[in-house]
Amino acid sequence: MYKIPKEEEIRKAIYRALRKYGSFSSLSSLRLGILEELKKMDENYTISMKRARILTARSGFVKLEIKKRHTKKKVEKCPVCGGKLKEIRNLNLEGKQVIIGYRCTLCNYKGRVYEKPTRYSFHFS
Ligand SMILES: [Zn+2]
Repeated sequence: MYKIPKEEEIRKAIYRALRKYGSFSSLSSLRLGILEELKKMDENYTISMKRARILTARSGFVKLEIKKRHTKKKVEKCPVCGGKLKEIRNLNLEGKQVIIGYRCTLCNYKGRVYEKPTRYSFHFS
């Protein structure tokens, strides 16, 4: 039987996993590191890739390096944590404002208009 850990417990597990391993070169290895720490608190605890990614991105103490690729779909909310995006604007040659990208108000992810993350690595920030 699986149990869902509280957000605060996951934050602790993220911190401990990073302290132990230093960094993670993929989302799946990060999840395994977090899971290892969660199992020490309760062996029935589990965590999905998505929740591991969201809470790590929003933790404030983890730096994410993100490889991105082009996508045809317009980005509506943060592709990393689901947070609200703020537009990054710039002036074009005619002096008109154009949207060049987005920044997440919760995890600070920055991306261009038609860009989405493909690979992650994680370090202490
Ligand atoms: Zn975000």
